[in-house]
Amino acid sequence: MIEVLIADITTLAMDAIVNAANPSLLGGGGVDGAIHRAAGPELRRFNATLGGCPTGEARLSPGCRLPARWVISTVGPIWQGGERGEADLLAACYRNSFELAASQGLQSIAFPAISTGVYGYPKAAATHIAVREMRAREADFERIVACCFSDADAVLYRAELFG
Ligand code: ADP
Repeated sequence: MIEVLIADITTLAMDAIVNAANPSLLGGGGVDGAIHRAAGPELRRFNATLGGCPTGEARLSPGCRLPARWVISTVGPIWQGGERGEADLLAACYRNSFELAASQGLQSIAFPAISTGVYGYPKAAATHIAVREMRAREADFERIVACCFSDADAVLYRAELFG
């Protein structure tokens, strides 16, 4: 089942929350900063052992002080106009995050709107990709949450999901 929630993703008690991380995996602004603050310094210490993450890939970390059991960090593409493979890279973020979750036997996962903040991906186009990739894995999970940080984002997700 795919749900649209308006929430701070750090409050969600899921098997995994996905972080829109930067390639260092050591923290940053936006949702990344919020997740690192809520998880505590253990997350940064763990991630320092991972050696970073290329754009489009995903890495698994313990949830530390979060209510979520795991954090899946994925690095979204920076929007550069749309002709630098951004759409494929954004889709890869969702696919690789789902793949990692499935390989761990996880049943519930929440995603923020990857790349749509500082990385500048146009929201409607990003939402279309996010929902397409969520639908592709809908049967494999008990709960898939699109965690929106604004009413306007939730309107986009709901329009994409429910027409
Ligand atoms: P990126 O660098 O991938 O663009 P950002 O963190 O800047 O990542 O933004 C990604 C999305 O996460 C944006 O839609 C932003 O509004 C949202 N966001 C920011 N903080 C939170 C949070 N605490 N919980 C859920 N979503 C958040």
